Parts: sequence; structure tokens; C-alpha cells
Amino acid sequence: MKKVVIRAGKERSLLKRHPWVFESSIARGGGDSGETVRVEAADGRFLCWAAFSPQSQIRLRAWSFDEAERIDAAFFGRRIEQAVAMRARLPIASDAWRLVHGEADGLPGLVVDRYGDTLVAQFASAGAERWKHAIADALLAVTGLTRLYERSDAQAREWEGLPVQTGWLRRSADDDGATALTIREHDWRLTLDVAEGHKTGYYLDQRDSRRRFADAVKQYGVKTVLNCFSYTGGFSVAALAGGAQQVVSVDSSGPALARATAHVALNGFDASRHETWDADVNATLRRCLAESRRFDAIVLDPPKFAPTAAHAERAARAYKDINRLAFMLLNNGGLLYTFSCSGGIAPDLFHKIVAGAGLDAGVDGYIVERLCAAADHPQTVCFPEGDYLKGLGILKR
Ligand code: SAH
Repeated sequence: MKKVVIRAGKERSLLKRHPWVFESSIARGGGDSGETVRVEAADGRFLCWAAFSPQSQIRLRAWSFDEAERIDAAFFGRRIEQAVAMRARLPIASDAWRLVHGEADGLPGLVVDRYGDTLVAQFASAGAERWKHAIADALLAVTGLTRLYERSDAQAREWEGLPVQTGWLRRSADDDGATALTIREHDWRLTLDVAEGHKTGYYLDQRDSRRRFADAVKQYGVKTVLNCFSYTGGFSVAALAGGAQQVVSVDSSGPALARATAHVALNGFDASRHETWDADVNATLRRCLAESRRFDAIVLDPPKFAPTAAHAERAARAYKDINRLAFMLLNNGGLLYTFSCSGGIAPDLFHKIVAGAGLDAGVDGYIVERLCAAADHPQTVCFPEGDYLKGLGILKR
């Protein structure tokens, strides 16, 4: 077994069971891409078993802090069993959910979403890649399913020096290999294509916030909605379900908007209640302001502006700007649902950014909701970095 020794003093985060070790913390040792190594403190104490990533800034990702544990196919079976059992205890109002959420499930670099009877996996670290086939077998064995599609095309693959890989990893001989699927979320039906959609096809993490938005639209008597960064219109369907009369979905992806239009019809809403604008959100907000348009509710669910804490400052300006414009475009008493999915922007910083936006817009509001990722995207006590998605529901005063 190869060994990696951590610099004196740099073992503290591992002792707190934080699963990452950066390159600068390593004194000596290494391994092949994804190889399991024994990680020791400078004084020779055992710290963890970890996967070695020769090219990534995050050089080690811990699999286990238990010296007696062996990292083998059975280990992955146990971790996947635990992840699946945790979801079985959750009240998930959908037939689609996140089955494995990386570090939070003790499986750094692995994401698995379940859409009905189809599993979609992302292997984003050298360690997850190395154990891909054992993981695939365990996923099928634990769930009893037969369809597993691979979407290893996340940017993290590049940082790990791994090539893009997509396609069926497992399916039975008589399976037609259809990647176009329909799921049920709350009372709604939604479609996706696991081969083409963003991430694994759909943003499952916003499931609970879409429900709350539908309820808020009803509660506050919202009539007009601007859904910014709409993707395939999840929040638009929610708004229509809540009784909104006029909903606009704005996104820069034409295919996503075509699907949003289809979702309005699929859920039985009159097409005249929904419009799509294939446009840049920033430009759209400015245009609406110039045209003196106003809305009763605005959703801001932008892509990750700050992939890491190093990008936080520039991202903060971008978040502030769209929130400032949204505050100005809201009718008095209107509802803002605003999000950040940047791991580098902590919830208190996000609140401060939104506060700055309100100050610049000359408006204040009541915070009526604090939003986060649905519980099938768990946060854990030892991994605060996992808290990536945060949102506020605000009523403009
Ligand atoms: N709210 C969505 C998920 C949004 S993901 C849901 O509930 O499913 C972010 C979306 O922003 C993507 O669909 C992407 O196409 C879009 N996007 C990114 N930059 C954009 C921009 N500058 N203007 C408009 N849309 C943008």
C-alpha cells in the first residue's frame, strides 16, 4: 500500500473529518491516478484511506477515517446502501431524487441521480473513476434497477485530468436505450433527456423550493411572474400551479425554453399564460426597467457565479446587480425568490449581497423564506463546503 505523509500541522482538517487534502499540505508520497493510499501525519499516525489525484489541486479525497476499513468493492456497496437507505426515510414528493451526493455520502467525486427507473452517474474524481465498475455494479445491486447512464462531463473531470465520458454504463440486452424520460415532481409532470440536459438532466436540488414558490404564489396572490434562468421551466410550472396568470421564462438556452413550453402544455395549462424569452437575463432586466415593466414575483436562479471562494468577489458584484434590478422591477408587496448555488458564497455573505442590492435599489423587504437544497442533497456536519445552494424568499415592502 502506498503512503502519503501530510506536513506537520496540516493534518488538522483531516482530524476534523474534512475529506479534502490540498497539494500544498502534502510532505511526501503519492500514487497512480485514483489509487487508494494510506495517509499519515508527520508523526506516523494513521489519518485516513484516500484516493490520490495526481493532477488536481485537491490531491487527496478521503474514503474512510477508519484504519480497519478496506477500500474494496464491498466498501462501495456499503456506502451506496447507506445513501439509498437515507433517501428511503425522506418524504420526497417525486419519483426522481439524488441517490448519492458526493462527500455528504462518504463518496467524494460521485453523484448519482435517479429518474424513475433510470440512474445517471457522474464520476468526477480520479478515485471515483478508478472504482467506476464496482460502483456501477453496487448501484444496480442495491436499487434492483438495470439502467445506468454515465454523464462524466462535468468540468471537475478536466481538473482531474480525466476525459469526458458519456453513454450507457449498464442496461439490459432488451433495453431500447431511450434517454428521454418523464418524471413526476409534486403534482407536476416534467421531461428531461439524460443524454443532453444540464448536469444529469434536471435540477433536482430545487424541488422543495419550487413547491414553496407555488404555495407562495397562491398565498400572496401573485399574478405576474418573471422566472429568470428558468432552464426547462420548473419554477414556471410551479407559478402556474399556484395560480399565476402570466409567466415569463427567461433563459439563454433555446432547447431548455422549448422544453419549458412543452411542460406548460403537459401540465394542462393554457399556452397563453406563458411566454419564453431566449435572452440574456442581465440585458432582459435592464430592458424591462427601461420599458417600465413590473412583476408581482421574480425568480433569480443563476448558474454558479463563484465556482470557488477565490471567485467570490466578482461573483458578489454579479449577484448584487441582478438582485438590485429585480428589486426595482417588483411591484410593492411583490415576491423575490433569489438563489445562489455558489459554494464560495456562504449564506450570510449572500444575505449581505442581497442587502446591498436592496440598499442600492432603495427598497427593503421582509424575509419570508430561507431556502436550501432539498434533503436528498444532504449537508453534513463535517463538510460545511457542501452547503452550496442557498436562497431567500423576500416580500418587497
Ligand atoms: N431554475 C432552473 C435551473 C436554473 S440553472 C430550474 O429550476 O430547473 C441556470 C440556467 O441559467 C441554465 O438554464 C442556463 O442556460 C441559464 N443561463 C446561464 N447564464 C445565463 C444568462 N446570462 N442569461 C440567461 N440565462 C442564462
